[in-house]
Amino acid sequence: MIGENYKAVQENIDKACADTGRNRDEVTLIAVSKTKPVNELMEAYNAGARDFGENYVQELVDKIPQMPADVRWHMIGHLQRNKVKYIVGKVHLIHSVDSLRLAEEISKESVKNNVVSNILLEVNVAGEESKWGGSLEETIELVKQAAQLPNIKIHGLMTVAPYVENSEDNRQVFVKLKKLSVDINAQNIDNVNMSVLSMGMTGDYIVAAQEGATLLRVGTGIFGARNYNK
Ligand SMILES: *Cc1c(COP(=O)(O)O)cnc(C)c1O
Repeated sequence: MIGENYKAVQENIDKACADTGRNRDEVTLIAVSKTKPVNELMEAYNAGARDFGENYVQELVDKIPQMPADVRWHMIGHLQRNKVKYIVGKVHLIHSVDSLRLAEEISKESVKNNVVSNILLEVNVAGEESKWGGSLEETIELVKQAAQLPNIKIHGLMTVAPYVENSEDNRQVFVKLKKLSVDINAQNIDNVNMSVLSMGMTGDYIVAAQEGATLLRVGTGIFGARNYNK
């Protein structure tokens, strides 16, 4: 079931790219596996998944040694500064950097471990109070300041769009994030290359792919509903 779901989502992405003339190689599906057991992650892995997204530091560090070494781990959940030390050097990309203080902590731990950490800056495009990330304006400032820190590399932007019944309602959110990344790129800031756009989840990943996402974060659409009460 999970393997079939994974392949069906990949086919939907193929179609979204074909419909909009995008190069399919630019778009990577991340299997968001928070709360799911390792045997279920392996079903996705066996269907071809190599990129996995997790939200909680403890769960992430528990799963890493239980999965094959060629998995690329993505930290997509809100990250507390005191937890940074547990994941630096272990993850492929941190999507959820939403403050200069967090970027500074990632930089400090990366220097200590002699690694370069790849990060995205989280943007609250719709200005929802319940969501993390800075506004469009704040993000430009954050990029400029974080770009000066050692041992981190800013690759792009991430957003968690509002929950909507109709995915079309989020199209403008994705258009705005894409435009912000183009605007920031045009400023030619040292150490910044806005080539990655992490946007789109189960309810709206097709629209996100149409609007320029390079990373799609799909959980429910691959693994089924999450049960937080287990
Ligand atoms: C849980 C989560 C997802 C996946 O959500 P689904 O709706 O299950 O696809 C994507 N991104 C973030 C940041 C998440 O926390």
